[in-house]
Amino acid sequence: MARLLGKRPPARHVETIATEDTVEQLSSEFRLSKEKVQSILRGVGINLEGSNPASEMGLYREVIACKVGDRSRFTHSDTSYEEVLDEQLRSFDEIYVDTAPIIQEDWFLHFVTDAEPILKRRKKKLIILEKTLEELHGLKDNPEKDKEVRVRSTIRPDLIRQLARRGLVRIGDTGSTGIADDHLVSLFSQIGATKSLLLVTQDRGLSERIVRLAHQLEQHPKQEVKKPWFLRLLGRKKSDAEQYAHQMVACKLIEEGKLKRCYICPECNESYYDDLHACEGMVLCGRCYLDLKEQEAKQIAANQKKREAELKAEEERQKKLEEEERRLEREKLKQTVGQRVEMQKKRFIKRASLVLVVLLILAVVLIVLLL
Ligand SMILES: [Zn+2]
Repeated sequence: MARLLGKRPPARHVETIATEDTVEQLSSEFRLSKEKVQSILRGVGINLEGSNPASEMGLYREVIACKVGDRSRFTHSDTSYEEVLDEQLRSFDEIYVDTAPIIQEDWFLHFVTDAEPILKRRKKKLIILEKTLEELHGLKDNPEKDKEVRVRSTIRPDLIRQLARRGLVRIGDTGSTGIADDHLVSLFSQIGATKSLLLVTQDRGLSERIVRLAHQLEQHPKQEVKKPWFLRLLGRKKSDAEQYAHQMVACKLIEEGKLKRCYICPECNESYYDDLHACEGMVLCGRCYLDLKEQEAKQIAANQKKREAELKAEEERQKKLEEEERRLEREKLKQTVGQRVEMQKKRFIKRASLVLVVLLILAVVLIVLLL
C-alpha cells in the first residue's frame, strides 16, 4: 500500500544499546574488566562501535560464557528438569551431536549445561565427530553465513575442547571420507546392533534415515558384546523383549536445549517431532491416530447396526415360527373337534341301528306270537 501511495514503508525500529552501556553491563554480569570484555568480543570479530542492536546482547553473552567457561546463566530454572533429562539420556550408551544443533541459537549451551551433572554421574560422554569441528571451521570464515552463525562457529570449538578436557565430550573419528550423514548412518548401522544410540541433529532427513535404520534393526535380535566367562555365568539370561530392544533415537534441540524426538508415522510415512519416550520410532502421527479412531468408531457403529439388523431378523423369524406354531395348534384343535363330532355321530348311528334291530326282532316275535 505504501508503495502504491508513493511512500516508503516506515523503517523497522531497531532497539539499540550504546557500546559503553553494553560493555558495562557485560563486565558487571561476568565480573570481568571492560577491557577483557571488549578484547573477548574483538577476538571473535565483534567490534562494538557507537550503538549496537539490543537483540545481539544474547550473542555477546554466549561468546563470553564460552570463552571464560561460565555457563551458569544457561542452567534450567526448573530444577525438576534434570530428572526429566536424566530419564531421557540414561538409557543411551553413546550420544552423538551433529553440527547444526551446536550452532543453533544458544540451545547447545543449555543442553550441555543441563546434561553435565547427568553425564558425570552416569559416566557418559557426548560424541562430536571431527567432521563437525571441520564444518564449524569452514562456517566461521564463510562470508555468506549470518553474523550469528559465524560467531557461534568461532566460539563453539573452544567450548567443545573445554568440555573434552573435562571428560564430557569425546571427539570421534570421522572415519571414512565422504558425506558426514552417510558416515553417521553406516556408523550407526554397525554399532547400533550392540549399543543404544542417540543422535542429536537438526537434520530431518538424517533423522528419518536413523529412525528407519532402527526399525530395520528391530527385526533382528540384538547382538551381545562377548563378555568374559565369569560374567556370562553370573549374568541372567535376557528376556526376548530385552534381546530385541534396539534403541536408536534421533532428536533435535529446541528452545532451552530441550530434546524433541523424530518419529515416522507408519500409516502416512511422514516424520514428525514429539517428546522423547522410550518406545519404537515408528509411531502413528496425531492425524492418522485420529483418522484410525474415526474409522474404528465407524466400524463399531456399522457392526452395531449389522448386529441390530440381525437381531431384528431373528426376532421376526421367531415371531413367524411362533405364528406358524399357533396356526398348526389351531388346525389341530379344529381337527379334533370335527373328529369328536364325527365319532359321536357314528356312535349315535350305531346305537340307533341296534335299537332298531332289537325293535324289529321284538316286532317279529310279537307278530309270530299273535299268529
Ligand atoms: Zn500419519
